[in-house]
Amino acid sequence: MSAEAGAAPHVLVLGGTTEARRLAELLAEGGPAAAGGPWRVTTSLAGRVAAPVLPPGGVRIGGFGGPEGLAAWIAAHGVTHLVDATHPFAERMSFNAAGAARLAGVPLLALRRPGWSPGPGDDWTFAADLAEAASLLPGLGSRVFLTTGRTGLHAFAHLADPWFLVRSVDPPAAPAPPRLEVLLARGPFGLDDERELLARHRIDVLVTKDSGGSATAPKLAAAREAGIPVLVVRRPPVPAGVPEAGTAAAAARWLHGAADRP
Ligand code: NAP
Repeated sequence: MSAEAGAAPHVLVLGGTTEARRLAELLAEGGPAAAGGPWRVTTSLAGRVAAPVLPPGGVRIGGFGGPEGLAAWIAAHGVTHLVDATHPFAERMSFNAAGAARLAGVPLLALRRPGWSPGPGDDWTFAADLAEAASLLPGLGSRVFLTTGRTGLHAFAHLADPWFLVRSVDPPAAPAPPRLEVLLARGPFGLDDERELLARHRIDVLVTKDSGGSATAPKLAAAREAGIPVLVVRRPPVPAGVPEAGTAAAAARWLHGAADRP
């Protein structure tokens, strides 16, 4: 759907990631990277984090009520373009976005950062999901730095022997493994921080989702340096046929092209 003559196109960014915030900033900043603005931008957040860092532009918080609810919101608010910039592990929302874009007849782009790949010196084991990660973990180590997020902690709750260090923005809720220390912190974290943390807690295995982002995350570099194995949870499936951009700048360029299309 193209914007009505004279009206600014309205992009709804399904957010919760650094890339989503960066896209809203690019569109708000103007200039050549700003996708031919002026754009009206609304970012949608799920509301999982108590005090989120807010992007420029409009912000709305909370679920829509499935693909139908999202399609109704799109129609009611004159949204002309939809960008799914949710986290690569926010599986349900990506499928909701694909369904809603179809229902509402608006173009959809997935802004998804590339995943990580192991390099020389890395000792990585892959798991299909959190449940498989929990079953593989006892064979890999006993002092675990678990960075898969507080909402997935239940998958490890039955593991009584390993000691877990969990880092999250907000405190995790039960069920959780019994031997657990929680570190409340918000990234980004530097290599020195990660080195120090692995050493101080005598970590012998790191568990991470393949969230991707910068070429190699400091926690992965620190694990490689320390010779610590890494258990990597693979990404869930994504809806077929949705165009993808790997960076906020590429998403802004796509929006520019989409706004020019009839
Ligand atoms: P999910 O399982 O894909 O989504 C569950 C439900 O939450 C959706 O059906 C939707 O409710 C609502 N929702 C999700 N993202 C939303 C958004 N941006 N705006 C409004 N409603 C949203 O997602 P999740 O894994 O719980 O993640 C929730 C949020 O945290 C996402 O925005 C994601 O970007 C962010 N996040 C997730 C992870 C992760 O590892 N999963 C990591 C970092 C950040 P309705 O069906 O009612 O619309």
